[in-house]
Parts: sequence; structure tokens; C-alpha cells
Amino acid sequence: MHFNILTVFPEMFPGTLGGGVVGRALADGIWSYNVINIRDFAINDYGSVDDAQFGGGAGMVMRPDALGAAIDSIEKPGQIIYFSPRGARLDQKMVRGFAGDAKNAVYTLLCGRYEGIDQRVIDEYNIMELSIGDYILSGGEIAAQVFIDSAVRVLDNVLGGGAESTANESFEIGGLEWPLYTRPSVWRGRNVPEVLLSGHHGNIERWRKQQSDEITKMRRPDLIKENENEHN
Ligand code: SAH
Repeated sequence: MHFNILTVFPEMFPGTLGGGVVGRALADGIWSYNVINIRDFAINDYGSVDDAQFGGGAGMVMRPDALGAAIDSIEKPGQIIYFSPRGARLDQKMVRGFAGDAKNAVYTLLCGRYEGIDQRVIDEYNIMELSIGDYILSGGEIAAQVFIDSAVRVLDNVLGGGAESTANESFEIGGLEWPLYTRPSVWRGRNVPEVLLSGHHGNIERWRKQQSDEITKMRRPDLIKENENEHN
């Protein structure tokens, strides 16, 4: 999997993606990236890539000429994604889709700054808009790292536990994960639920399912509705 990353802050990459399992996958060549500094395509010697909004209003907008030149410099852009609060909201099902044909997948990730980018760039390149949630970030770089992290971690050979590690997680199981426990079995007078120490796999599985259902019903009833709709 390869990512072309368009940003005015190239030093922000790999950032969090350089550590942990995703960092190891990067070192192992399971995924790769290159950063294109949008400022290299600035319209003047001052490095300007943004300008005031037509129609007035506070805040700057990234210019289409600079962005277009930056995009055109990419040899194999693949699917182009612009991170934006207006985009479709990323969820685990979408992550699976993006990671789906991983072997050949190339994505170009456009990280916005200021108030965002000129609409004509989105129209010209038929760019997909993706949001990582209903809040406003100061730039798309964190969103790009969220996108890469979530897509890479479901690829083969990234997590130690293999397919099971990703299949057993929140959202993948149709709800939220059950409570987790490890050693010591007693900590500050708090015991690990008896059933988990019993070695009885059937009972453990039933307990986890029941816990997961309860937590999901309480915290995210919307996920249950989603599943019911899918199965009908
Ligand atoms: N004026 C915009 C917000 C701009 S925030 C609006 O009202 O919708 C600046 C940049 O941060 C955006 O161009 C986008 O690339 C990024 N960004 C902010 N919030 C985001 C979110 N929830 N998901 C993905 N990207 C986001």
C-alpha cells in the first residue's frame, strides 16, 4: 500500500505512524509513503499557497493553481482523498474497504489547512472527501495519519495475532469490545471475573458476548440498529 501525502507540514510525517505496529510495517515494506510539500508549488517566491476568500469572510483558502501543480507532480496518484469535516465519516467498514485491494492500492491524501481548499480542485480531480469525526481540526495531517493507521493495521502481517486480532475488535464484532483483563489476577483488592480464570472456553465466549452486548446497548445503541438493518 502506498500513500502520497500532500501537506504544507512535511515534517509531521511519519509522525505517529513511525511507532508501534504500523511503524514496524513501514520498516518491513508492507506500506510506504512519500510527502509532497505543497509549498514547492507556491505561486510566488514567498511560498504562498493560500489566498483570501472570494465573497469575503475570515480565513484563507488554499489556491487551486498551487494544489493542481502539486497533484500533477504525482506520477501515480491512485484515488485522491481530501480530509474535510464535510466528507463521509470514516468508520471501520470503510477502513476495510480502503484496505481491501491493498496489494495495489495507492492513495493520494490531501491535507487541508486554513479554511480549506478551493472547490474547483475537488471538482477537477473528482476527489473523495473524508471526515474523521464531527469536530474541527486545524489541519488534515492528523486525519491522514488516522486514515493510514487504521487502514494499515488491518493488512495481513501487521498485527501479531493475525486475522483474529482485528476480527475480535470493537465495530468488527458488531458492537463494542468486552472488558479486558491481564495479570495480576488480584489488584488493589479487585478481582478478575471468575469465568475468565475457569479455562472453560464456551463460558468465556458467552460471557464476553453478553458483556459486549450490554456495553453496546448502553453506550452505542445506534450500532445495534445498524446491524439489525443489515441483517434484514
Ligand atoms: N472551514 C472548514 C474547516 C477547516 S479546518 C469547515 O468549516 O468545514 C482545516 C483543515 O483541517 C480542513 O481543510 C481539513 O483538511 C482538516 N480537517 C478539519 N477537521 C477535520 C475532520 N473532522 N476530518 C478530516 N479533516 C479535517
